[in-house]
Amino acid sequence: MQILHPFTGSVREYEAEISHPDRYRPDHCPQCQARQTLIGHGFYQRTLVEVGFEGSIRVRRYLCRACRRTASLLPEFALPYLRFSLSVLAAFLIARLLEGRTLAAAAVAASQPHMPYQRGQFWVRRFRRQAEALGAALAAKITPLAAASFGLRALLMLQSLGWIAAHRFLFSELRVHLLGWPAFLAPHGRRAALPAARWPRGSKTHNTCLAPRPLPA
Ligand SMILES: [Zn+2]
Repeated sequence: MQILHPFTGSVREYEAEISHPDRYRPDHCPQCQARQTLIGHGFYQRTLVEVGFEGSIRVRRYLCRACRRTASLLPEFALPYLRFSLSVLAAFLIARLLEGRTLAAAAVAASQPHMPYQRGQFWVRRFRRQAEALGAALAAKITPLAAASFGLRALLMLQSLGWIAAHRFLFSELRVHLLGWPAFLAPHGRRAALPAARWPRGSKTHNTCLAPRPLPA
């Protein structure tokens, strides 16, 4: 299970900070709620494209001794299962949908001038599909704003609340992904149980596999 690392600095600062396992060690398990400190369980690597950064970052992983499941601490600037950071995605969607710029100009606004236009189209499609649910979820935090479409309304609400704050609320409390979960993790960001025959009786590992997947788009 992925939980958010309450960190808002730069990627470089994040890398330095995550070296200390105690700093943000969860004091209870987010999955079985056992009241015992989780133990450090190494890192996994994931790719990230951020303004001024493109490469691999480490994501810290913890293990619950009670249920034997792992929790990983994803920094707030990264979106689960998306290579591009929250700020890159936000800049693109604002430029394209709110300001009506072309796909190419929106890519420039998002500091991705060489990005294939199909990627931007894909983000817009996913966002529009998710927009009504986003607006409904964010209504718990902010009065819904009047707009011509669900997409615009969700964008205005995200802008008003702040993208990081909105992402923190949506993801941590509701397991809502800004672009919608990929099909294999829908609807709540958790892997569907595999057929029982593949797992030993009592094993819960089928819910916990956090091996990083290739990150599409
Ligand atoms: Zn647990």
